Amino acid sequence: MEEAACLQLAHRMASLQPSATLAMAARAGAMKASGIDVIDLSVGEPDFPTPEHICEAGKAAITAGKTKYTPAAGIPALREAIAKDYTRRSGLPVTPAHVIVSNGAKHSLHNVFTAVLNPGDEVIVPTPYWVSYAELIKLAGAKPILVETSIDEDFKLQPAALKSAITPHTRMLLLCSPSNPTGVVYSREELACIADIAIEADISVVSDEIYDQLVFDGRESVSFPTLRPGLESRSIVVAGVSKTYSMTGWRIGWTIAPPTLSKAMGSLQSQETSNPCSISQHAAIEAITGPQECVAVMRNAFQARRDLVVERLRNIPGVNIPDIGGAFYAFFDIQASLGASKGPQDSVTWCEQLLEKEQVATVAGSAFGAEGHVRMSFAASEEKLTIGLDRIARFLGSMQ
Ligand code: PMP
Ligand code: GLU
Repeated sequence: MEEAACLQLAHRMASLQPSATLAMAARAGAMKASGIDVIDLSVGEPDFPTPEHICEAGKAAITAGKTKYTPAAGIPALREAIAKDYTRRSGLPVTPAHVIVSNGAKHSLHNVFTAVLNPGDEVIVPTPYWVSYAELIKLAGAKPILVETSIDEDFKLQPAALKSAITPHTRMLLLCSPSNPTGVVYSREELACIADIAIEADISVVSDEIYDQLVFDGRESVSFPTLRPGLESRSIVVAGVSKTYSMTGWRIGWTIAPPTLSKAMGSLQSQETSNPCSISQHAAIEAITGPQECVAVMRNAFQARRDLVVERLRNIPGVNIPDIGGAFYAFFDIQASLGASKGPQDSVTWCEQLLEKEQVATVAGSAFGAEGHVRMSFAASEEKLTIGLDRIARFLGSMQ
């Protein structure tokens, strides 16, 4: 059925791209369903089941009839648990009034951009960036200002590059450490330097810390607002249970932000979605306040997989990767294998050919604002990773 002209899409939809990560995962899923042996290293989602005690809390919430509306910004016990946990881990005292619970961290980011940005405002986004940032900023009517980083500097935003991107229209800087898609983790000193520039320029900072508990080799993941006294007044932390507790489908994320902004985001959410799922909120309380061994078990597994992936990729001629200190992604340089007369000319074709010829699903660097690269998730078993890497090596070898 054709739609009538009166259903023409709004202007804001004109440039909206679907999530490339979810699109690739759907494509790999469809191939698997048709019986093809696909190694899916596309979507960034822990492959572990949600820990049993968390699932039990969800079931208990259903049995106890916790199946009704909750306050739109989240149930008080969950906001309190998030505030206490953040205060304990970061040392920065926050209260439930700083916390708004949403339908996943993606929704939290949408709330922030919608509540803070006006048309014409600029948001500095270092590339490579996670796929949804630029689209969500544009949906809010603002302008993402992409600032390139280089693999030689581990894809970290350099102070000089940040300073030169700041204009009178800059309202916000977006940071993600540990990073999706590169896995790099900024040090305290690096972040402090960025914090000083943000204070000097009087801009706000959104710090996406959703991978904060997935750091390797005993590294610390520093929460941005803790870096300088008073920094919390211009900072918004975004986090959630999706990655730490393998709860991607439960859809619980949150912001930690100054109370006035939090209140505004709560109002926004009360009109847009009402509360996040009541059952998931109860499960999230158990995730945050219950036994934490599951987090260490998953972190150790990701670290072992990181070791495997790094060793294998470093042995492939022409492939460069940064120092992966956290999360579960390897973002590697494929420029040496682009541009041959019969070979792929860009990262999208590279990924398509890898999927067609070797049945390995990855995501093109262009979706992260970094053409000439590819992202593979290592949230897959060592067996699958080994097969996937064998196939990637064969694919690259066939192009020489
Ligand atoms: N930020 C980053 C950096 C992510 O990788 C993700 C992954 N989906 C999100 C936010 C959104 O997480 P959620 O599943 O909680 O919406
Ligand atoms: N954040 C994950 C990824 O980057 C999940 C997909 C998505 O939310 O777009 O693959």
